[in-house]
Amino acid sequence: MNYREKLKDCKRIVVKVGTTSLTYENGRFNLKKIDRLSKMLTDLTNKGIETVLVSSGAIAIGAEKLGLERPRDIVGKQAASAVGQALLMQMYEKFFSEYNQKVAQILLTKPVFDAEIKRRNALNTINKLLEMGVIPIVNENDTISTDEFNEFSDNDTLSSYVAALIKSDLLVILSDIDGMYTGDPNKDSNVEMIDTVPKITDEIYSLAGGSSSRLGTGGMITKVKAADYLGKKNVSMVIASGDNPDVVYDILEGRKIGTLFVGGNIG
Ligand code: GLU
Repeated sequence: MNYREKLKDCKRIVVKVGTTSLTYENGRFNLKKIDRLSKMLTDLTNKGIETVLVSSGAIAIGAEKLGLERPRDIVGKQAASAVGQALLMQMYEKFFSEYNQKVAQILLTKPVFDAEIKRRNALNTINKLLEMGVIPIVNENDTISTDEFNEFSDNDTLSSYVAALIKSDLLVILSDIDGMYTGDPNKDSNVEMIDTVPKITDEIYSLAGGSSSRLGTGGMITKVKAADYLGKKNVSMVIASGDNPDVVYDILEGRKIGTLFVGGNIG
């Protein structure tokens, strides 16, 4: 079965970008990538595909602005995110308005998804924004979240909850890794990228290991968990490189990009 072909029918997608896809190693904005991302998402919206962006970057950008290394303590992260989130939205507003695209900020926490009324409010707001042609830009409300019990602490998980909530057809995770490999590509040159994961098995979990980068949070394991969660909610997921956000076009044209985790909607 050609699962990739079915991605051509996507009408509603969530795109998640990690910190490393938005910033340089020093934590400053990568303007070229933010511009390409804003243009691509606007273009898809113009085409009639409803798009939601889940964006990280608040902590790294806030820390850079404050002249700090990325904080490790919870309150340091919360403070940095409070500075960085405003800068992040200012940057998105600037680039999206270049393309005449309206955007909105949505900050969520895990308890929102567990509380029926709040969850419904979030859903209704996102649906209304999409209906009005606005691109919602979602992040975790880091200021009132902690890395402790009952919070997301990484945007892979948050983006999977958002994609399931709004019954998205697809979640695309744009990352500093271009897909899932049969081993660690940094350590072994013989490993291959897995094109399609029709079903998440124990083997897939054990392959996921523990990759992570200096600026962002999460690794392959959080992505596999996100795909596992989404698969059960009938949503597919692709992990692809965030180097050039235009890969989202290729994914939606059914091309073999990154790793596709097949959800019930196309399986
Ligand atoms: N919410 C965090 C931020 O904006 C990102 C979490 C993550 O890297 O997944 O910095």
